[in-house]
Amino acid sequence: MRLWAEEALLPDGWAKDVAIGVEAGRITEVTPGAPPLGPRHAMLLPAPANAHSHAFQRAMAGLTERRGPDPADSFWTWRRLMFRFLEAITPEQIEAITAFVQMEMAEAGFGASVEFHYLHHRPDGAPYDDLAETSARVAAAAATSGLGLTLLPVAYQFGGLDRRALAPGQRRFGNDAERFARLHEGAGAALGPLPEDARLGVALHSLRAVAAEDLAPLAALSSGPVHMHLAEQVAEVEEVEAALGARPVGWALENLPLSPDWCLIHCTQMTPEETEALAQTGAVAGLCPLTEASLGDGIFDGVRWLGAGGALAIGSDSNIRISLAEELRQLETSQRLRDRSRAALATAERSTGRRLFEAAVAGGARAAGRGESGLRVGATADLLALDMRHPDLQGLSGDTVLDSFIFAGGTDMVADLWSAGRHIVTGGRHVGREGITAAYREAVAGLRAKA
Ligand code: ZN
Repeated sequence: MRLWAEEALLPDGWAKDVAIGVEAGRITEVTPGAPPLGPRHAMLLPAPANAHSHAFQRAMAGLTERRGPDPADSFWTWRRLMFRFLEAITPEQIEAITAFVQMEMAEAGFGASVEFHYLHHRPDGAPYDDLAETSARVAAAAATSGLGLTLLPVAYQFGGLDRRALAPGQRRFGNDAERFARLHEGAGAALGPLPEDARLGVALHSLRAVAAEDLAPLAALSSGPVHMHLAEQVAEVEEVEAALGARPVGWALENLPLSPDWCLIHCTQMTPEETEALAQTGAVAGLCPLTEASLGDGIFDGVRWLGAGGALAIGSDSNIRISLAEELRQLETSQRLRDRSRAALATAERSTGRRLFEAAVAGGARAAGRGESGLRVGATADLLALDMRHPDLQGLSGDTVLDSFIFAGGTDMVADLWSAGRHIVTGGRHVGREGITAAYREAVAGLRAKA
C-alpha cells in the first residue's frame, strides 16, 4: 500500500508531498517531495495508542452522576452501578462493548488500544471453564474492530493493603500468583488469531490489590509492557503510607524495577520531588485526563513532568467519553487552571498542540509495546488523516493544525485511520460501525434492564 499526503508530521518536523509505503503493518518508505501516487490525503499524522482502558465501563457512561444518601460519599452511585454491572455482565456483553469502545477509539484518532483487563471470572468468583475466557473476548473484539490490541491481564489479589479478602464486587477480579500465571498464559494464547501487531503485557492492579512481594515476580511474567495504577487519590496515598511506610511513588521508586517498559497510570498525587525522580526512570506516565476529571482525582503535574524529560501516554480509562483531542485539551487546560497560565505545555520550538501530540505518540507506542513510533521506516503503520476541509482546519498548516484539532475541534476532524496498516476508518466512520453498534445496543439493553 502506498499513501500520499500534501502535508505530514515526520519525526524531524512537517514535510510536504509525502509518499508513505506500508507493508505487513509497517512503514517501508517515507519520501517527502514525492509526486502524488495512489490515494491522496491532505494531512497525515502518526496515530497515538490509547494507553489505558477498562472497556466494559463504557456502558456506565453518564449513569453515575448523582449523590447517594451519605453526603461524604460522592462515589456512591458510581460504585453501586459498577457492582450491579459486575453481578450481571456476561462474556458476550464484554465482547460487544469492547468492540464498540475500540471502534470509537479508532474514530477518535487512536491507532491502537491497551486494555487493562481485570474482569476475569464468573459473577460468583468461580473461573470460567476456560480460565482466560474474558481475555479471549477482548481479543475477539479486536478481531472485529481491527484496532491493534495490547492485552494486559490484571493481577488482583486483595481488597486492600491489609490483605483483606475481596469484597463481593471484586470477586470476578481475583487470582493468586499461581493461577494468575496460568491465566496470563491463556491470554497470550487467545491473541494467537490476531494480526502480528497484537501484544501481551501484564498489569498489576495497584499497590492496594497485590502483595508487595509479588509485584516484581508478576511483572517478570511478561517481556511486554508492565502497567500499574499509581498515586491516583489522596486516600490511596494515605493508605499506602500507613501500610508500607512510604508514599506510593516513593515506595515504587525504592522497590520496583521501574524502566521504560513500565507505564504508571494516573500519578495525579505526586510531590515535585517524586515527579522529577519518576520521570528520570524513563517509565511512562499513563494519563487519563477526562476520567481523572470525572472522578475528581486531581491534576497531574505535566509542566514539571515534561520539564524533567518524562514520557507520557494518553488513555480513556473509564471511557465515559472517548476523544483523543479532548483528553489532550483537558491535560493542558488543567495545567492552565492550576497555574493561571496559557500555553502551559508549549515550548519555544513547538506549539501546545504539537508538543502534546508528539508526546502522546512516543509515549503511547512505548506503553503499548508497539516498537518504534512516528512516520519513519520500520515503525508500526498507525496513521491518522485529518479532514482538512473541516471549517476549523481549512487553510491551516503545521503546528496550528494540531492546535486546532485539540482546542477547536476533535473527533469530527478525523477522516481516516490505519492501525498497523489496516484501514478501519474512512470518511470519519469505522468500516464496521453498523454491526458493532447493533451488538453494543443489545449488550447495554440487557445490562441497563438489570441495573
Ligand atoms: Zn484504570
